[in-house]
Amino acid sequence: MATTHKTRMLIIGSGPAGLSAAIYGARAGMEPIVVQGLQPGGQLTITTDVENYPGFREVIQGPWLMQEMQAQAEHVGTRMMWDTITSVDLTGGTFKAIGDGGDIYEGDTLVICTGAQAKWLGVPGEQELSGKGVSACATCDGFFYRGKKVVVIGGGNTAVEEALYLTNHSDDVTLIHRRDSLRCEKILEERLLANPKISVVWNKRVERFVAGEAGDLRALALIDTETGAESEIETDGAFVAIGHAPATELFKDKLAMDASGYLLVQSGTPKTDIPGVFAAGDVCDHTYRQAITAAGMGCMAALDAERYLAEKEFSGVTETVQG
Ligand SMILES: Cc1cc2nc3c(=O)[nH]c(=O)nc-3n(C[C@H](O)[C@H](O)[C@H](O)COP(=O)(O)OP(=O)(O)OC[C@H]3O[C@@H](n4cnc5c(N)ncnc54)[C@H](O)[C@@H]3O)c2cc1C
Repeated sequence: MATTHKTRMLIIGSGPAGLSAAIYGARAGMEPIVVQGLQPGGQLTITTDVENYPGFREVIQGPWLMQEMQAQAEHVGTRMMWDTITSVDLTGGTFKAIGDGGDIYEGDTLVICTGAQAKWLGVPGEQELSGKGVSACATCDGFFYRGKKVVVIGGGNTAVEEALYLTNHSDDVTLIHRRDSLRCEKILEERLLANPKISVVWNKRVERFVAGEAGDLRALALIDTETGAESEIETDGAFVAIGHAPATELFKDKLAMDASGYLLVQSGTPKTDIPGVFAAGDVCDHTYRQAITAAGMGCMAALDAERYLAEKEFSGVTETVQG
């Protein structure tokens, strides 16, 4: 039977943004509910080594970090729900979200932390070698390829930025693009083509990722998009940089978003265009997309949610007294 769950702070998404919002919300007495979605713990659960989350001298594991974050959120009073939201109603004074089993979640405030999934090529070897040489985040994993040979796949802004970033770690960066021209900003293209550490392989698509004897990535099998000729490029690391897809389908025509589907927030805040509805993490951030930035935004959203309710409740009391 469908149940209605009420809370002062409803959080959709259980990555670093959602769980950080939950920790702050719970400690502010908001008794938050987190609806976890299909990927409890978020994107860090699909990676291995994390070396840039502050507080840990040694490399830690992404899934472990997220388990700890969830345990901390629960410890301070968060209710975790194993459910996925299929629709939302943001029109009333309280915000309603419906789970895929029919349960209704009602929040006096809503914090949206549904993230943005990296797009993958979907070719053989890609998922098997993810974390073993294949990555979708140069900022996250570039450091592991210091002094090694790396390739970046893509031809837009993301790919060019990733290639340029990787030259901080490697003198041998190859950009592989399936067309004969880039689709990035002119200034980025100029910087890329002028960089002696970067070479570009045009008109090639990746057919598959090839493992070496040790089970790590060894090479990429390529097909020439004009001639159909097959070739192989040896590499230590491959970065798939063909963009991200923000998980915002639920909010179409309900909240303002940019052309790529990222939720729009007021500059420097987690406030959406609906008072009481906040967004945090990758779902509204196409620039930084890191666990620490997502966690920071989650914290900001919880603090603003608490202030929003306090102001609303205070004006309610004032109206009652005056009335
Ligand atoms: C392979 C890989 C390695 C990475 N390595 C690092 C690293 O080393 N360091 C670093 O700082 N960052 C790293 N990142 C980036 C980092 O994982 C993200 O920036 C971060 O997870 C974003 O957090 P988030 O909370 O905004 O969203 P996410 O972590 O994406 O979480 C989104 C959450 O929303 C939920 N959700 C989505 N739709 C619904 C729905 N309809 N109903 C309910 N829930 C829903 C999902 O289940 C998930 O729990 C890496 C990313 C990848 C892909």
